[in-house]
Amino acid sequence: APESESMLELFATTVSRFPDRTAIAYFDGAVSFRDLDQRSDALAIALTEGGFAAGDRLALYTQNDPAFVVGLLAAWKAGGVAVLVNPMNKARELSHLLRDSGATALLSLDDLYLSVAREVLDGGQTEVRQVFVASARDDQKRDDERVIPVARTPAIPGALRLTDVFARHGDRKPAPVGVNAEKEAVLTYTSGTTGVPKAAINTHRNLTFNTHTYREWMKLSQDDVVLGIAPLFHITGLVGHVCVSLVVGSKLVLAHRFDGRVVLDAIREHRPTFTVGAITAFNRLSGLPGASKDDFASLRAVYSGGAPIAPQLRDKILARTGMDIHNCYGMTETTSPTHAVPLGVSAPVDPDTGALSIGVPVFNTSVRVIDDDGTELLPGETGELVVSGPQVTPGYWNKPAETADKLVDGELHTGDIGLMDEDGWFYLVGRKSDMIIASGYKVWPREVEDVLLGHPAVREAAVIGVPDEYRGQTVKAFVSLQSGRTTSPDALIVFCKERLAAYKYPRVVEIVDELPRSPAGKILRRELR
Ligand code: ATP
Ligand code: MG
Repeated sequence: APESESMLELFATTVSRFPDRTAIAYFDGAVSFRDLDQRSDALAIALTEGGFAAGDRLALYTQNDPAFVVGLLAAWKAGGVAVLVNPMNKARELSHLLRDSGATALLSLDDLYLSVAREVLDGGQTEVRQVFVASARDDQKRDDERVIPVARTPAIPGALRLTDVFARHGDRKPAPVGVNAEKEAVLTYTSGTTGVPKAAINTHRNLTFNTHTYREWMKLSQDDVVLGIAPLFHITGLVGHVCVSLVVGSKLVLAHRFDGRVVLDAIREHRPTFTVGAITAFNRLSGLPGASKDDFASLRAVYSGGAPIAPQLRDKILARTGMDIHNCYGMTETTSPTHAVPLGVSAPVDPDTGALSIGVPVFNTSVRVIDDDGTELLPGETGELVVSGPQVTPGYWNKPAETADKLVDGELHTGDIGLMDEDGWFYLVGRKSDMIIASGYKVWPREVEDVLLGHPAVREAAVIGVPDEYRGQTVKAFVSLQSGRTTSPDALIVFCKERLAAYKYPRVVEIVDELPRSPAGKILRRELR
């Protein structure tokens, strides 16, 4: 079975089968599988010569750039572990993650290095001893609104340019390292939706298993073209874009960051067949001026994960673009999916809550629904999802208490509340931590949000509980409006009151320009609170 091998063994097979095929298309450039192999060999040699040893951590602090993939493979080839870092992180956050992971090496892009990372390293509080930089494309060099000019050739203080590393070691092979399937492959930080991000360990087996899941469920082959819209530092991008391409041999189309116009151009040029990403990204693409159904016609398999999909939004995107978005569900801790809607199947909607099904468990994955006492519940009953399978993390990095809390007797307690219906379809009602108790009744934000999203003027909605003297908690909604539409908080309250039980409708509505979201498109309710 493929899951018994390491990512490196599976990648080596791909290189031997398709050395000259394009592994990554990036703007007007193309990187072949052989290029990826040779460049990561060279970087692995440079790492090792610089003192990087088995089990050491290389932090990848880049946008969706081919250098990310080179760095990932090089970390493994040097016997180490890659640490995935959000390039939007600023100095304080980067410093925390470098110290938390104990990274001794860093790979970044020149503009990011000069604007953020150098300051952190100069601060001297990390263990980073080796720094490598790749050149960001000139037209992508931007830190917030500031353009940072970086000369192409001069040396960058404290860092080695990747091009120099390739030139120096380009024709050598690193000594093989024994990587077995149980070894840590990456440390992936959770999105930080409910608290401070924690690094989940994803082993080679975790990665190869769920890469296999994507390959089989989304029916992927070397002839597929994968559109890379999820951030690569997020587990969805890592597995659903990078690992898929490395193992299957499909072409991965990358853009520096998610910019609707750039992605639309890439779609027109490369005619992708598969993608997985955040529902907000699909929503953005579907609303781009000038985009037509023809643009999206090549995408035969489109999956969304990481956040709920309102059925109305799915229908709207289908009507505008022809993209039939399939739901999938998973976590950083489960190395991407534990559930998915089978390709070509229309997922049911739960008649009670209006939630779109997240699908059914993928291969070899067991899912139980339990109540607060740990008792297993019956179909139709709502409780916490606990999952086990080959994609489940062995634990968080250096966090034994959190690991013991979430991983009990080999099962991962997801913190997500949901149910399974009589036919085996799963639905989520929300996160344990988002539940509102108003006048003693449970209110799930998503149900109220879906009602608000049904109002023609509403673009986004987020619901939280706020302290209330009489009810304990009361329901408060934040909404942003469609451009050119107006409504009032009172009108929205009435709209909800007509459609929801008395304890559920929001007593307070606040209209805002935009809701705070994480890079994966999740609404950050903790910021609203
Ligand atoms: P943190 O754990 O740091 O609070 P996070 O849980 O958002 O952040 P991720 O691992 O990126 O970090 O996200 C996993 C969570 O995303 C799941 O636990 C679930 O709450 C939510 N999620 C994933 N897929 C779906 C989906 N299809 N529908 C609804 N929610 C989803
Ligand atoms: Mg989580």
